[in-house]
Amino acid sequence: MTFEVTSYAIICAFTACIAALVAFVAWRRRAIPGGTSLALLMAAVTLWSVAFAFEYAIVGIPGKVFWSKIEYIGGLSCPVLYLLLALEYNRMDHWLTKRNIVLLFIVPLITLGLAVTNEWHGLIWSGFSPSPVGRNLLIYEHGVGYWIGVVGYSYLIMLIGTVLLVWAVVRFPMLYRRQTGALIVGAIAPWVGNLIYVAGLSPIPGLELTPLVLAFSGAVLAWGLFRFQLLALVPVARDALIETMTDGMLVLDEQNRVVDFNPAAQNLLRTLTKIRLGQYVEEIFSGLPEWETDLQDMRGTLIDIALTDADHSYLELTISPVSDRQNRYAGRLIIMRDVTERRRAEEGIQQANERLRAQLAEIETLQANLRDQAIRDSLTDLFNRRYLDETLERELARAARDQVPVSAVMLDIDHFKAFNDMYGHKAGDDVLQALGRLLRAQTRTGDIACRYGGEEFVIIMPGSSSAVALRRAEQWRVAFENVSIDHQGQLLHTTFSGGVATFPDHGATANEVLRAADLALYASKASGRNCVSVVP
Ligand code: GH3
Ligand code: MG
Ligand code: MG
Repeated sequence: MTFEVTSYAIICAFTACIAALVAFVAWRRRAIPGGTSLALLMAAVTLWSVAFAFEYAIVGIPGKVFWSKIEYIGGLSCPVLYLLLALEYNRMDHWLTKRNIVLLFIVPLITLGLAVTNEWHGLIWSGFSPSPVGRNLLIYEHGVGYWIGVVGYSYLIMLIGTVLLVWAVVRFPMLYRRQTGALIVGAIAPWVGNLIYVAGLSPIPGLELTPLVLAFSGAVLAWGLFRFQLLALVPVARDALIETMTDGMLVLDEQNRVVDFNPAAQNLLRTLTKIRLGQYVEEIFSGLPEWETDLQDMRGTLIDIALTDADHSYLELTISPVSDRQNRYAGRLIIMRDVTERRRAEEGIQQANERLRAQLAEIETLQANLRDQAIRDSLTDLFNRRYLDETLERELARAARDQVPVSAVMLDIDHFKAFNDMYGHKAGDDVLQALGRLLRAQTRTGDIACRYGGEEFVIIMPGSSSAVALRRAEQWRVAFENVSIDHQGQLLHTTFSGGVATFPDHGATANEVLRAADLALYASKASGRNCVSVVP
């Protein structure tokens, strides 16, 4: 095996070095969109160039044909890898499925197979002849397999890749002009190189320029990708954010099918279902009671749902419509947040509030009772003397202002000591209660009926003259006469005597009026009891 190191071989070796270097750099930064494809593309260019170097250097047709076959491994991979790079750069990751990649490689694989077995059919190379210019060059005559598998297919794939790279320039707002430039150079350079070759304008006739041009494109693209990786970083950071955030994210298309979700979404909905891409949202949520009410039309903005898991978690769903780049409705975005703790806190506060409210009501009742106890007599439930003392002055002052009379009726049960002695204290209390009931029933709202002490009562009647008060007191007296007290099956009767005094005629102050009423009462006692008298 003899070699002749020509300038062509040296150029190819040089190209291989550049491509290998770019491949190395790109591989180390493969986390950046486009990095992996660029590394693979440059690896293919390296292989291609190395094989070219050997093909140019080796002497003899069989050796050259052998290295041409090796070249095809790299050369046929390049257009496909170039397309993958463009797809990756455009973030069209959904296209980069295993199936699509395998499909893209079918034609190159068949072509490679044809090249390897060329001796049997000549579909790739139909003949060889040494170049008239010498320089250890071999001219290949090409068969139909070459024109379809190599030229046709590669051009088509490269064309799509170029369009995509140019499109990336249009699609992504570039922050740096030079990155835009790098993309355009990377997209156009292979075509310029090819044009020069096809048009026969190459400064070095017969030299295949494509690997050199691709290595150059690769270097420029690498520079564009990594030097100005700001843009590349943003989607990466965004993806990382969505993958790691604690809020669940669910993206639905127009038909309400799941097109994307993050791990948090799966985690939050773990008790409901295992989320699958393409699944209808109904399958996820229809088991919930909230489905019928709020969720079904997927239009609410904030919906709380209660999960029936062991922790009784609550999720808050924020549903918002999503539009595509042309501002057309494209689906919905659902953000899910675990609001269990907040709900628990809210429930706790609510319970505490209810307890406080109950306690407050209780306190108010107690207070009202206390107030009542302070102004009422417990045996008869009439007002007590303290209340009378407090209110009578006020009533008199008001009456003086309004120039109306206020009458006071003082009652005292007759021979009560004797009654008590005969029937017992309990029967006496029953009498007091009976009189209390009677007075409560037969006084008007404005009247103030009090138990003044022992078996004495005072009824204040604002606005009533002596005559009116006397008439009323007479009614009470007659009524009380007829009240029977049941004492061990025996019906007992008692009477009272009364005295009436009126402000301002019989006294200018509470004390004077009460003393006058007391005097009138004394007069009734003196005149035989069971009667009511007015101050003369
Ligand atoms: P009169 O007034 O007709 O002159 O004779 P009296 O027996 O009623 O005379 P007095 O006013 O001196 O007697 C008051 C009696 O009332 C003394 C007491 O036994 C009785 N008394 C006072 N407070 C109560 C009470 O709360 N319950 C009962 N059962 N008796 C009482
Ligand atoms: Mg008395
Ligand atoms: Mg008495």
